[in-house]
Amino acid sequence: MADKVIPLADHRYAASVPRIPNLLLPPSGLLGDRLGRALRDLRISVTDRCNFRCSYCMPREVFDKQYSFLPHSSLLSFEEITRLARIFVAHGVRKLRLTGGEPLLRKNLEVLIGMLSDLRTADGQALDLTLTTNASLLTKKARALKDAGLQRVTVSLDALDDATFRRMNDADFPVAEVLEGIAQAQAVGLGPIKVNMVVKRGTNEHEILAMARHFRGTSVVLRFIEYMDVGASNGWRMDEVMPSADVVARIHSEFPLESIEPGASGETAERWRYLDGAGEIGVISSVTQAFCRDCNRARLSTEGKLFLCLFANHGHDLRSLLRGNASDAQIAAAIGLIWQGLDDRYSELRGAFAADASSGQRRVEMHYIGG
Ligand code: SAM
Ligand code: SF4
Ligand code: SF4
Repeated sequence: MADKVIPLADHRYAASVPRIPNLLLPPSGLLGDRLGRALRDLRISVTDRCNFRCSYCMPREVFDKQYSFLPHSSLLSFEEITRLARIFVAHGVRKLRLTGGEPLLRKNLEVLIGMLSDLRTADGQALDLTLTTNASLLTKKARALKDAGLQRVTVSLDALDDATFRRMNDADFPVAEVLEGIAQAQAVGLGPIKVNMVVKRGTNEHEILAMARHFRGTSVVLRFIEYMDVGASNGWRMDEVMPSADVVARIHSEFPLESIEPGASGETAERWRYLDGAGEIGVISSVTQAFCRDCNRARLSTEGKLFLCLFANHGHDLRSLLRGNASDAQIAAAIGLIWQGLDDRYSELRGAFAADASSGQRRVEMHYIGG
């Protein structure tokens, strides 16, 4: 008999079944973790699949035809996602971001958006409901997403030069279609639109100024993201990280900038404004300048595991509670317990982790929890 093949996806993402406390304290909306951080932002991955193979996220050598993506039965249903989202909102979450993989590949996503857009905070406010996409399907779907209640989108675009972009997405996808998707999203009112560019030294740093020039003077906010060591497959090397300070200096030399105050606590981007009034840019420096202290995000994977840090190697299996007939009160209490025990701050401690590379611990992949 052939050896049994254990699909990678099954052992890669370790998770434990959350403990339900005896005393079911109802959510107060004021949950704090051990570092006093509130829970405000939930990122929900709706699929682990993607039609791109960005080398920094899903390199084709790893995510090839043999790779076992999650079977449909493993995915949280829209009802399950909405039920969990409602509980998170009771705990104080105000912002929901749908992500993936490529979220627009999830069938009937607008139905989920409709369900989530009906949720309200304890004081009756609508949630900040947004989505991150590679925009390959945005031209087609923008109208339906808007009509379903989506407020805005963030689009990932790593270069304006077509050859560079096609190489980076490794799916031969053209820049022009992403720009068309952005234009369509703007036309239907899915703004303000943010564009994320992951900067990889030696790969697309030559596109920084071209991107800045293109989006200056439009309502689109361009944000430069440091290439991160997420997951275990992208072969990350520190010398390929372009520090945000260098990105800002490069743009400043052509278009003078001044720094501006962050919009909200826990916001990951540092903001800069063009002195000539042509708008602003952001930089996300998760490698060179950790922002863990204000981190207020949690991440729900495609099959219902809760990860409290982008760099976690261990999740909390909320699906086992959903499908094990736990009540809302029990699930809420279990989530409260998890968040209160949290002290993840990987980015700040990266140096110490690197020194202990021998620990051999796996980290969760970006396409699975969505960034
Ligand atoms: N497929 C969608 C997209 O690309 O917008 C959503 C999922 S993607 C995982 C979310 C964000 O993570 C994207 O903006 C992407 O550029 C970013 N990302 C993925 N891998 C990264 C890495 N190694 N370093 C920094 N950002 C990364
Ligand atoms: Fe797909 Fe987004 Fe990852 Fe690129 S960054 S491979 S588009 S999930
Ligand atoms: Fe938050 Fe973890 Fe990122 Fe720090 S490393 S900002 S704790 S997600």
